[in-house]
Amino acid sequence: MSLPEKSVVHGSKARLQDLPSIDKLLRLPAVQTAVHAHGHTLVTTQARAMLDSLRTQAMNGELDIDAVQEEALSSSLAERIERMLSPRMRRVVNLTGTVIHTNLGRAVLPEAAVRHLVAMMEGPNNLEYDLDTGSRGDRDSIVEGLLCEITGAQAATVVNNNAAAVLLSIAALAGGREVIVSRGELVEIGGAFRMPDVMASAGARMVEVGTTNRTHLADYERAITAQTAMLMKVHTSNYAIEGFTSAVPESQLAGLARERRLVLNSDLGSGSLIDLGKYGLPKEPTPQEKLADGCGVVTFSGDKLLGGPQAGLIVGEREFIQKIRKFPMKRALRLSKLPLAALEATLTLYLQPELLTRDLPTLRWLTRPLAQIEAIAQDLLEPLHTVLSPRYAVALASMSSQVGSGSLPVDRLPSVGLAIAPVLPGKRGIGSALETLLAALRSLPQPIIGRITDDKLYLDCRCLDNVRVVTVQLDRLKELLA
Ligand SMILES: *Cc1c(COP(=O)(O)O)cnc(C)c1O
Repeated sequence: MSLPEKSVVHGSKARLQDLPSIDKLLRLPAVQTAVHAHGHTLVTTQARAMLDSLRTQAMNGELDIDAVQEEALSSSLAERIERMLSPRMRRVVNLTGTVIHTNLGRAVLPEAAVRHLVAMMEGPNNLEYDLDTGSRGDRDSIVEGLLCEITGAQAATVVNNNAAAVLLSIAALAGGREVIVSRGELVEIGGAFRMPDVMASAGARMVEVGTTNRTHLADYERAITAQTAMLMKVHTSNYAIEGFTSAVPESQLAGLARERRLVLNSDLGSGSLIDLGKYGLPKEPTPQEKLADGCGVVTFSGDKLLGGPQAGLIVGEREFIQKIRKFPMKRALRLSKLPLAALEATLTLYLQPELLTRDLPTLRWLTRPLAQIEAIAQDLLEPLHTVLSPRYAVALASMSSQVGSGSLPVDRLPSVGLAIAPVLPGKRGIGSALETLLAALRSLPQPIIGRITDDKLYLDCRCLDNVRVVTVQLDRLKELLA
């Protein structure tokens, strides 16, 4: 069955009566094929939506007669269906130079974690089933042993992210009581995560001590009352206070906490599980150091420097971890089996630290030798030049990468990549020429994300393992720019 032939004058406008009924549209052979592939529900919904919008256009006299022809209708319907079914979450190529990019999904999982995650999700698993005894188990036990082994903690538990870990540790151990924190550490992480608001949400009363730049042990001491439950330390991960400054380290607060029977809680934010100094990277505090300093509880993220999935890790003294685990809010914040599987495999890598710079993408990229980054940039130069010249000039350039995700905010890592600049006689049009290029790069099957500075697009090659993910897309890039 097909639509009646119409005598078509190209360029003329379609009227309402030129549009087919939904039933007629659904009987078109190409549409029937779509019904076969995707089922009646999706095709009908999309066909209806398409006809609605065509009807509006026809009523406004904006619909070309060509658009209501059989082939045009079935191909627009096919396009709609494809758009509807194609994933919104897409792989991208991170050439921003920010290794742990929050907007690009933070840490990239090691292959071992991806494999374990997929294997565990393909069928039932022992998430909460103790295979030794055949009785109900605790999901925490999947990673608790690993976390204790790596950090030296007595006990450990995991939740959805570090924001949840901070909230939960305060609520469970200091809810309804006072928590003392330095004014220099009232961090905002981004979004709605601000330390004073977290304290309020956790039902604790925040007691600020010291000043923005200087806080002393005596400030904490003086603020302790019968209502105090916790001394809180917050790592200033996304800013640095420099100059005339002084903060009280955990090692000094630990004695005070012990003497006054308070919990010393340290939010490390990123919290690297290894000493980055070993690799010539700037130092970031580790949970093992904080525990050795005498902290009762230490919290940190799974998907920042640790290089694993989104998770909030809580390590510390058994008594405190038990209390946290039994607190009702824990159930609402618990870690799902997907990240738990990925976290287990990631932590297992830390038992073999010699393998980390090879197998943990985050650390591999952070420690990548400059010569290797340059070789990648060099391989990309000619193919990009071929596609972009003469509209854009492409050159090898030194640049600096950053760790990202609020880790080591003031440190920069020397890197290499490509700098791309529009070729124009003057300043006019540079912005729009760059915007055209950026839009084309974003429209690729695997969008390429760079960074704009000083009227140039910088493509930092630090996180690019293989130039092919870029070069296979260059024909398409050429089409998009044509
Ligand atoms: C990143 C960060 C958080 C939040 O961690 P998420 O895992 O993103 O929830 C909390 N505190 C500090 C100091 C941080 O740097």
